[in-house]
Amino acid sequence: MNRIPGRNFLFVPGPTNVPDRVQRAMMVAMEDHRSSRFPDLTKSLFEDLKKVFKTETGQIFMFPSTGTGAWEAAITNTLSDGDKVLTFRFGQFSHLWADMMGRLGLDPEIIDVPWGEGVSPELVHRLLEKDKAQTIKAVFVCHNETATGVTSDIKAVREAMDAAKHPALLLVDTVSSLGSIDFRMAEWKVDVVVSGSQKGLMLPAGLGLLGMSEKAMAARLKANMKRCYFDLEDMVRNNPSGYFPYTPPLPLLYGLRESLNMIFEEGLEEIFARHHRLAQSVREAVLQGWRLSLCAKDPKWWSDTVSAILVPEGINGAHVIDVAFRRYNLALGAGLSQVAGKLFRIGHLGDLNELMVLGALSGAEMAMKDVGIDIELGSGVAAAQHYLRDTDTEPKRRVSRQEVVYASHSVGSMEGQH
Ligand SMILES: *Cc1c(COP(=O)(O)O)cnc(C)c1O
Repeated sequence: MNRIPGRNFLFVPGPTNVPDRVQRAMMVAMEDHRSSRFPDLTKSLFEDLKKVFKTETGQIFMFPSTGTGAWEAAITNTLSDGDKVLTFRFGQFSHLWADMMGRLGLDPEIIDVPWGEGVSPELVHRLLEKDKAQTIKAVFVCHNETATGVTSDIKAVREAMDAAKHPALLLVDTVSSLGSIDFRMAEWKVDVVVSGSQKGLMLPAGLGLLGMSEKAMAARLKANMKRCYFDLEDMVRNNPSGYFPYTPPLPLLYGLRESLNMIFEEGLEEIFARHHRLAQSVREAVLQGWRLSLCAKDPKWWSDTVSAILVPEGINGAHVIDVAFRRYNLALGAGLSQVAGKLFRIGHLGDLNELMVLGALSGAEMAMKDVGIDIELGSGVAAAQHYLRDTDTEPKRRVSRQEVVYASHSVGSMEGQH
């Protein structure tokens, strides 16, 4: 077996790096999930998740599932068989959710948008205004389309719905944005929020998260879709006292406790700013250094958690990914479905800092050169370095001249003792 020494550079847009603190927090002995002490953990999680979703009146649910399970829970708990719903397809994730709507028995009106663009609030407004009989029961939006690196403006979508005076529910997929890109469940009146554990929350996959507004909780009582495992009714009966209707995944819950601690220590707004800055450094590398293009067609769509980078004609993006992995121990994201082979993706979310990003850019650069892309080695890394140095958000963190003198002085005096 060939062992590749050193760290694997994990730069797929999920799962993301699990911080050491979270890894250690998950190494727990199993315990009785019906004990009198267990709610101390779970109640704090429900309360603190609300801060991440930014809601006070909404309710959070946690399923032992992936984000896909939370997609299903969102649909079956709020809608009825045959309901007409509106959704937009512009990447593999918005495609899969739309596909699920049909398979579960909804009647989705799927608006195809070119991959590389996002949801147009004007179009939402027009389509809802046209629906005079208000037959559309829900609007589905993928906040951050991970396949193309496109972020849509949820606030503007909500404003468009309000302007059309349409009562449809707003359901939003935040799997690759929650805890990384600004998202405000209450302020933007999002009725159902779907998320997962393995992206911005820095955990392994295995928790499907759902945020439900009061309006969504009321809609639930009339929703007739068949549901069993994902029926919120069982959660509603058990969660308020801190329990689950079945065995919860303990290590993930302890891991979530620690990841939430880390999120609040850094600060949500600071985390959003860090993601924006690191993302911008990647974009500098792609656009200024390598002179390549992003799949996201306009800066207004640029995602702060993932960049999808188009490879030149005649080059297979999968080849770049394979060389990066086998030769440099760097995992990059693949092009999915319609964009397979046309791009590779760099995930820049979760527990990440400047030098980690520069390492990934350096590896991507070498792998691109290896497969014959005409770029200059160091060009992307240098562009990112310049950007990062020019935008240091914490100058106070820089070592002051005084500290440097002090450090060399103490080394000198140590030497003197020898
Ligand atoms: C990762 C992801 C999902 C769900 O993925 P799971 O593998 O089921 O957790 C859904 N939507 C988006 C936008 C994603 O990035």
